[in-house]
Amino acid sequence: MSVVGRKSKHCLSFDVEEHFQVSAFWSEARRQQWDTYESRVENNTRKLVELLAQHGTKATFFVLGWVAERHPDLVKLLVRQGHEIASHGYGHELVTAQSPEQFRHDVRKAKDILEHLTGSPVLGYRAPSFSITDQSQWALTILVEEGYLYDSSMYDRFQRSETARGNNGLVQIDTGAGRIWEVSPSTLNVCGFQVPVAGGGYFRLFPYATSKSFLQRLEKQGAKLVMYLHPWEIDPEQPRMDGSWTSQFRHYLNLHKMERRLAALLEDFQFGSIVQILGAAWCKEHEKRVMVDAIDGK
Ligand SMILES: [Zn+2]
Repeated sequence: MSVVGRKSKHCLSFDVEEHFQVSAFWSEARRQQWDTYESRVENNTRKLVELLAQHGTKATFFVLGWVAERHPDLVKLLVRQGHEIASHGYGHELVTAQSPEQFRHDVRKAKDILEHLTGSPVLGYRAPSFSITDQSQWALTILVEEGYLYDSSMYDRFQRSETARGNNGLVQIDTGAGRIWEVSPSTLNVCGFQVPVAGGGYFRLFPYATSKSFLQRLEKQGAKLVMYLHPWEIDPEQPRMDGSWTSQFRHYLNLHKMERRLAALLEDFQFGSIVQILGAAWCKEHEKRVMVDAIDGK
């Protein structure tokens, strides 16, 4: 397959965390044992890197600070491969479970670790389990104050369509400290509700042909797709964790199909990193400002 002349149109992202760190299996006791579990994130992420290289695709990797500390070479490999490094916070605690002070400490620590490893500014943040909600928008203000330019933590899954934000685009949100871009994972309006179609458990739940038709419908509407996946989702051999029936179903469903599905996705759609897509939007904004200034005679 030739990749010459392919243009990046949509955003592809991965949340780089261990299989035992997901919110569905979270407990304070398990958190204390993280260092005792088998690490699988490096192998799984390296497999993703190979797959992306085969398709000439760049992506954004939201790396957990805890993981970056233990796998610095993995972060450096991602940079060498031309992928964007963004922040998934440090300790994978839900934003809604943190005080503003704890949240600031968490996102600052992760940014410091990642920037020290990459030598470049980290511009984007994604909260564990998309836990910035309308009730915790104070977090966006803190992100701006801490130097983040975009957030990808607000996910309007199953909201009524009329209250959904931006409907599959990149939107700017005014915070008390300045503006931040919000890059929400894609949802599709079905009978007045926003159905999540662009990642994680939902991408594993629907047959690929169904996901593809959902994504094509969004594409025809002119939406920017924002996809999210995790390295552990292509690892059917991972050790099973104790948890509720629903958590187990959600986490382990169709893991063995994911590598094939991801390869098909990379064939069928054109992706790039979030900063590549946002960069184009920033340039357009800048051009618009220059034109308006020229018309105004400034
Ligand atoms: Zn996560």
